[in-house]
Amino acid sequence: MAEKKINVKLLSMTSNPVSVVYAACKQCYSAKFSGDIYSKSIDGTVSQEKQEDFVRRIVASGHESPLEHVNFTFAIEGVSRVLTHQLVRHRLASYSQQSQRYVKEDDFDYIIPPLVKKHDELKDYFIEHMRSTQELYTKMINFLKKQGLEGEQTNQDVRFLLPGACETKIVVTMNARELIHFFKVRCCTRAQWEISKLAYKMLHIVQEKLPSIFGDRSTKCDWLGYCPEGEKFSCGRYPIKE
Ligand SMILES: Cc1cc2nc3c(=O)[nH]c(=O)nc-3n(C[C@H](O)[C@H](O)[C@H](O)COP(=O)(O)OP(=O)(O)OC[C@H]3O[C@@H](n4cnc5c(N)ncnc54)[C@H](O)[C@@H]3O)c2cc1C
Repeated sequence: MAEKKINVKLLSMTSNPVSVVYAACKQCYSAKFSGDIYSKSIDGTVSQEKQEDFVRRIVASGHESPLEHVNFTFAIEGVSRVLTHQLVRHRLASYSQQSQRYVKEDDFDYIIPPLVKKHDELKDYFIEHMRSTQELYTKMINFLKKQGLEGEQTNQDVRFLLPGACETKIVVTMNARELIHFFKVRCCTRAQWEISKLAYKMLHIVQEKLPSIFGDRSTKCDWLGYCPEGEKFSCGRYPIKE
């Protein structure tokens, strides 16, 4: 068992995303067939620059539903169960998470929060707690094994001991509209530090892949031009709405 660091990898994304969004938007206002609009976008009849410019204007206008046709799938590791508990609250996404029922946690890794890491004494307490939890977990698994029980039958009950700090792995698919929403709330300084770290890693990946949609905005204040959090919670980057 050891401390783990966050790792995010883009597994796949919709091909020709700008042309897909362009054709979907154009379909709303055109008598033509989006299949033909798409073909003309792909073969260069409509320049990439023109498509990107159009998509940028659509995003800025708040016409967001065409963005739902573009999907991104991420593989994520080195995050805590505390993080994934928050992540899965985002309902317009698909998830596949490593199970503590099918995968025995006989050598679990963990995430150390920054405030704990900052103080050697706290870090020592924390690591000792991880070690003793692991010891107890193994002791209980072995106890049940002697009763003839093993595998998911025992893992599913003994896992109740495991800490929120326990490292987990998850695959997440979100469409571009949901990603924008996710970044708006989770890149904000009010969001919890670990999910915010994940959101920024995902943001940097999609900004590089698809600048016409994700541009250089992240948090809700970037989109609104003011902070909706009120004086008590505002980080001060934008003025508070009176
Ligand atoms: C700083 C911060 C603190 C938080 N604190 C808490 C807390 O103390 N307790 C707690 O329980 N949660 C908390 N949350 C989680 C929060 O309440 C949301 O559950 C989470 O952010 C998911 O966001 P969402 O529901 O907007 O988005 P998603 O599920 O990603 O949905 C995206 C959007 O789709 C629409 N939508 C989705 N489902 C529905 C629906 N059923 N009906 C209508 N519209 C829908 C909404 O417009 C929604 O914004 C916190 C979140 C943040 C960022």
